This record gives sequence, C-alpha cells and structure tokens, in this order.
Amino acid sequence: MKLFEKPSPKLFQTAETSEFQNLPLALAVIIVGMFVIAIPTFYILRTKTKGVSVKAQLIALLKDEFSYIAALIAVILVGQGYYLADPAASIIVAAVIVFSGIYLFKDNVHCLVGRTPSKEFMEKIESTAKSVEGVLGVHDLRAEYVGPNVIHTGFHIEVAKNTPIEEADHIAEEVKEKISHETGCQHCVIHVDPAERST
Ligand SMILES: [Zn+2]
Repeated sequence: MKLFEKPSPKLFQTAETSEFQNLPLALAVIIVGMFVIAIPTFYILRTKTKGVSVKAQLIALLKDEFSYIAALIAVILVGQGYYLADPAASIIVAAVIVFSGIYLFKDNVHCLVGRTPSKEFMEKIESTAKSVEGVLGVHDLRAEYVGPNVIHTGFHIEVAKNTPIEEADHIAEEVKEKISHETGCQHCVIHVDPAERST
C-alpha cells in the first residue's frame, strides 16, 4: 500500500485527481473479488467435472478473474499517473467478454439448432440396425444433436409379418443395444413395422 500513501507528484497536478481518490479501496475490492472468484474456479478445476454448463461456468469465471487482473494492473498504473490505463483496461475487459461469448456460442450453437450428424454416422446406424437378425428393413431414420456429444436418433425397423409382439420387442431391444455398442448413441427410439406395411 506504500504506493498509495506516497502518490507521485503528478497525481496532484492533474485535474483528474479527484476521480482516483479511492485507489486503495478499489484495490481492496479487486483483491477480495479475485479471491471470491478463485474459490469456485479451483473447485471446478480440481474436480475435473465435465459438461457444457460446467465448461461455460469455468470460462465465465476465468473471464472474471482475467478482468480483475486487468483492473488491478490499471488501478496500479493509474496510481502512478498513467491515466490511459483506465480506458485501456476497460477495452481489454470488453474484448475478453466478447471473445469468451463468441467462443461459447460457437461451441454450443449446434446443440441449439439440432445439427444433423455426419452422413457416415447415419449410414452406420442404418447398417448396424440392418445387421441384427430379424430386421428386414430400416426407414424414416432421423437424428439430431441434443448436446455436444449426444445424438438423438429415431427410426422404423421392419420385421416379418405376424411376428409375435414379444419377439418384435426383443429384436428392437437388440437393435438398440447394438447401436449403443457400435456408435455410442444412447438415445434411440425405435418403431417396429410389419414388413409389408412400411409406413
Ligand atoms: Zn414405418
């Protein structure tokens, strides 16, 4: 705090002096804020929790921590008479907010719009379903992203006409299991059709 007990003479010669009278207070608020933000940040980093919301939270916290550091440097520089540090820090903080926002948006936008998985993925689902014994055909395949690595699929399988419902259900379960094993897709809705009436 010695820095602020003996401010440089320049500080008293400027008209802007009155604006920066509470530098020690500003410094204290920033340091307290940095500690408060650091607690959840370290908690997230330590537990290594994964997930979209946790990642967004972590980026928001790191952005805040960076903003505090920028503000801290600015306050110290202003205390030494470098008044341009104040607007410069504001611009840097604004830029960090914009870039972290763009980063999170790009990272998550495909979940919001339900992006279609790759053609290879669709073909893999169809061929896997067809490879199960008793499946005569596959149609009306739909798939969309419902999370960064989570795909929701739905389709119809055709089984031989007059197949008992228990057996048809067993075939559908087998398809579901094989798709989960082969593609990792856990969210699969299967509708069973008799082979003749494929609607
Ligand atoms: Zn159908």
